[in-house]
Amino acid sequence: MVTAKEPQQQVKIGPTRLLINNEWIESVSGRRFETINPATGEVICTVAEADAPDVDKAVKAARTAFTSGEWAKLSAARRGDLLYKLADLIAQNIDELARLETLDNGKPLQDSLGDLQLVIACYRYYAGWADKVQGKTIPISGPYFCYTRHEPVGVVGQIIPWNFPLLMQAWKLAPALATGNTVVLKTAEQTPLSALRVGELIVEAGFPPGVVNILSGYGPTAGAAIAHHRDIDKVAFTGSTEVGHLIMEAAAKSNLKRVTLELGGKSPNIVFADADFDAAIAGAHDAIFFNQGQCCCAGSRLFVEEKCYDDFVAKSVEKAQNRIVGDPFDGNTQQGPQVDKDQFDKVMSYIESGMRQGAQRLCGGNRVGDKGFFIAPTVFADVHDDMQIAQEEIFGPVMSIIKFRDIEEVIQRANNTMYGLAAAVWTKDISKAHAIANNVRAGTVWVNCYDVFDPAAPFGGFKQSGMGRELGEYGLQQYTEVKTVTIKL
Ligand code: ADP
Repeated sequence: MVTAKEPQQQVKIGPTRLLINNEWIESVSGRRFETINPATGEVICTVAEADAPDVDKAVKAARTAFTSGEWAKLSAARRGDLLYKLADLIAQNIDELARLETLDNGKPLQDSLGDLQLVIACYRYYAGWADKVQGKTIPISGPYFCYTRHEPVGVVGQIIPWNFPLLMQAWKLAPALATGNTVVLKTAEQTPLSALRVGELIVEAGFPPGVVNILSGYGPTAGAAIAHHRDIDKVAFTGSTEVGHLIMEAAAKSNLKRVTLELGGKSPNIVFADADFDAAIAGAHDAIFFNQGQCCCAGSRLFVEEKCYDDFVAKSVEKAQNRIVGDPFDGNTQQGPQVDKDQFDKVMSYIESGMRQGAQRLCGGNRVGDKGFFIAPTVFADVHDDMQIAQEEIFGPVMSIIKFRDIEEVIQRANNTMYGLAAAVWTKDISKAHAIANNVRAGTVWVNCYDVFDPAAPFGGFKQSGMGRELGEYGLQQYTEVKTVTIKL
């Protein structure tokens, strides 16, 4: 379990104030809030707590930078240079950032380092795009010259979650900055620290004042102020479907700001009996247990074909029981704590609900250790579609195995959800693979793999899993407005 050594002493904490206009300042109210180490339950430090007046200040700085500052005059190629520089600075500080991420979020250090590889790749990918976003010339009728310009949307509010703090910051900032927007970014209250350290690197890289403003604070206060703000042109949100509804409502009630949402999921992971059995066992395990189960695209409904069901369940239980849970700073650890007590309690209540509703708990279900928020990897078999654990997002290390008989049935059941973020299929039969890829309504379908992410490949949800796409060329479209210019010849 969590060892006696104090990881905090080995981690440099970095800034704890708000970043507005390239200055580090306390909040208008002077309030600060505590951020907790989820491996111990102890306070790491306090950070400045933004609220509506701080959002106003940040929006003013971002608006000035957008309309008249140095940023507005900068060439597209130079924006790309700044993003490359930021990527380099993150790479130079990768160990420090990984440790900070692990301290504040609880994810194993190896996983933080893995996230950071994707962070760096994302900034570099969009750095390359900065001077390649271009419009068209259009042959309209009459004596006219018509063309389109892809202009930045303007001041963008970005609200990110706590499960991948650095990566979600990169997914949000990189395309927005590549296309010339300015940003007010609010981190999740559980994990403010790593994004602030990146803020320091943003200033060091040479981004002009007001281009990136970073606020720590709570959702219903600072987050809501962003969603309702009349001088924010777009809000990009990643978080729960419930809050996604609030964001859209706020946009509708204020200034019809553009909205992109990346929300929850209940992703079907479908294993056919003809699959490479060992690869499917390992893939299904990682699909749900990676990041303590705290992934919007987690393979949280594991459909296994009847013919291999018993074997699959037995092997999955064995693998879950061998998963190493403990000190996230220990190199052998595969699973750290849940991010906070609220999440811990929520996951435990879903485990109770599974047992109450008659699913078979084959391992786990208990707290690990006597401090922090660790939960033993849990496997439920004989899960039915109508059980709460098969319907709702648990966001924890809880595998739910569901039996199916044939392909038509499993497609129909896979789609029987309000979500549509991701799906996967394990099979050696190309026809089955395509049938799942074409007919399951989800933004991403993985075939014989899971959680394969690349900054070039778009990601986002069907149905109530979201609106719009992040990453790839598609992700750029969400950060530009198309302007049509028509000139009489
Ligand atoms: P979770 O339940 O996983 O914590 P949330 O959707 O509550 O997910 O949080 C994701 C992000 O949304 C966080 O940055 C949080 O502060 C923010 N948030 C929460 N509630 C609101 C709200 N009412 N308006 C705007 N942002 C919010």
